[in-house]
Amino acid sequence: MTAETEDDALEVIRSHPDGVLQSELWKELGVDSRKCSRLVKKLLDDGHVERIEYRKEGIKTYVLRAAKTPADPNLLLAGSELIPCIACELECVVEECPLLMDWMYQLAIEEFQE
Ligand code: SF4
Repeated sequence: MTAETEDDALEVIRSHPDGVLQSELWKELGVDSRKCSRLVKKLLDDGHVERIEYRKEGIKTYVLRAAKTPADPNLLLAGSELIPCIACELECVVEECPLLMDWMYQLAIEEFQE
């Protein structure tokens, strides 16, 4: 793979849930270390990744991890109706839940009306 954009680099970083060493990342991206540094800097500046200092065999490098982003609250709404799963105490069988089916039906109506 040759990473052309920050999105390519972010996709590779996301594929390592425990993080990836910056000193390894450029090899995986198929770019040189300078280009990797530029891509990483942009991702850091935009808040898409976090960087933790790490020493490997006495050499300083960094572990890069995709930043956790808060859930978009709009994804929990169908119009003004909040998804019923929040604070639900029913015994859950997702595939058969009438509350969730109604909510999804409402969501489909809302999207159709936009
Ligand atoms: S799918 Fe239904 S039963 Fe399961 S958590 Fe959501 S509302 Fe509750």
